[in-house]
Amino acid sequence: MERSLQTTEPSRTIPALDPATQESLGEAPIMDAAEVRAAVERARAAQVAWGKTSFRQRRAVMRTLMNRILEEHEAICRAAVRDSGKTMVDAALGEVFPVLEKIRYVLAHGEKDLKPEKRRSGILAQKGARVEFHPLGVVGVICPWNFPFHNLLCPTVPALFAGNGVVAKVSEHTSWSAEPYLAILREALTAHGHSPELVQVVTGYGATGSALVTSGADKIFFTGSPQNGRKVMEAASQGPTDVVLELGGKDPMIVCDDADLDHAVEQAMLGVFTACGQMCVGVERIYVFDSVYDEFVRRVSAGAKKLRQGAPLGGQTVDCGAMTMPRQLDIIEDLLTDAKAKGARVLVGGERATELGPQFFQPTVLVDVDHSMRIVHEEQFGPVMSILRVKDEAEAIAKANDSAYGLGSSVFTKDAKRADRMAAQLRTGMTVINDYGIAYMIQSLPFGGVGISGIGRINGREGLRSCTNTKAVVTDRFPIGKGVSVYPIQPTTYGLVRAVCGLVYGEGVRGRARHAVDAARLFASEVRSRRSS
Ligand code: NAD
Repeated sequence: MERSLQTTEPSRTIPALDPATQESLGEAPIMDAAEVRAAVERARAAQVAWGKTSFRQRRAVMRTLMNRILEEHEAICRAAVRDSGKTMVDAALGEVFPVLEKIRYVLAHGEKDLKPEKRRSGILAQKGARVEFHPLGVVGVICPWNFPFHNLLCPTVPALFAGNGVVAKVSEHTSWSAEPYLAILREALTAHGHSPELVQVVTGYGATGSALVTSGADKIFFTGSPQNGRKVMEAASQGPTDVVLELGGKDPMIVCDDADLDHAVEQAMLGVFTACGQMCVGVERIYVFDSVYDEFVRRVSAGAKKLRQGAPLGGQTVDCGAMTMPRQLDIIEDLLTDAKAKGARVLVGGERATELGPQFFQPTVLVDVDHSMRIVHEEQFGPVMSILRVKDEAEAIAKANDSAYGLGSSVFTKDAKRADRMAAQLRTGMTVINDYGIAYMIQSLPFGGVGISGIGRINGREGLRSCTNTKAVVTDRFPIGKGVSVYPIQPTTYGLVRAVCGLVYGEGVRGRARHAVDAARLFASEVRSRRSS
């Protein structure tokens, strides 16, 4: 599956580099607004036929896509590893697993979620009411760099299943893997006689993403940083074009005094060090109750010291790979410098692992962290475990909620009532009890954030339906045909409407009875005056 993206215009390309080895992988074209619009038009033309396909036909494509992903499992993971620097296990768990689960979800439940749904027609008893979920047309997907396979497919799968075409702008830091991933998607379409043009990938920097927002695409699914999310929303307001914004996170994990400490330590390690912390639902703040703080710190420090780091495809098994984006190392270093200056202590790591290459950062454990430090408030997206001491539930909740972000959160306790009580108070889009981040693997659940973590939801019924024009349809229940005639308005008409309101919405039998009398009197008078006019 491996190959390199080629272009004939070297001055208009993005270089692709393996972050672990610094090996050049190739280059990707920087596409301009005209090229982006052309991609949208190609997808739009292909969508006309695709939008008319049955769910059975769409399921056949999804089943083939799933088979192809299973066949190409290793090639997909290797491409993600080379493009983003993560380990094969990080790729298998973070890139492929959730995509397979998403496809399984749409195969099993997609039709049910998208078939017309009856609604009550309320006071208009003579009418039928239903909601239909029609394709939007072309959906634009703008991806970050952290999980190149997953970021491309996760919005694309529901968008296609809902009958749309897709134009995806992949990250400038991980464009190299896009072409083979696109090929898998297109093979699944052509295997069933559908146009491969239904899915397009565009490459370039922010300007290419911006061009997609104003390209005429019918909806934009943007995953990236809050600052660029704001720009996307501003540009989308020109349409206006609907947007879903999946922005960053600063997820808190709370470890209570009654937590299963072995389990909490294991999940904290996973939450911080998977993909070197380059995850939107990475655990970025750990609040540990006073009574278990020292033991928790001792165990995670011992665990972090044992982590092996290196080039993921270098022949040795490693636990942690490289950072995808060179600038991320500067961000982490900057946040650590600020934290140390304000009293935080590094117990493990804390520096670049320059002996491995320019894009490695050591797995790090940071203690004595407090809310005066930038590392508590700004997304670090790195392998740094920041641990904070709290005395009780109230302090843990107050501190966890002291964040502009609000994506995921987790609570570790053996007390189910305490867990529910704490979960209800956390101002986040998701809370997981006794695990971190696994809400994402339950594809029936909506995924998204509050605050600067974003707007809208992906996944589940909510995510599928957000790829549609959610259309209200009103029909006749009985063949009576005639509606209420208002014109010409009579002197009694306003009084009649008011009396009907009282009759329908008045409180209690006595309250309504008074309006019923008025309504009957005014109705009779209305009929008489209409006959004579
Ligand atoms: P980023 O905002 O720099 O870039 C994301 C994408 O947007 C890239 O493809 C980029 O080229 C494009 N872009 C940049 N400026 C744009 C503009 N003005 N208009 C349109 N597109 C533009 O983000 P990143 O550094 O690639 O990714 C890291 C961020 O993504 C982190 O904040 C992380 O938490 C977030 N993220 C969130 C989720 C989630 O589901 N909530 C998942 C993964 C990553």
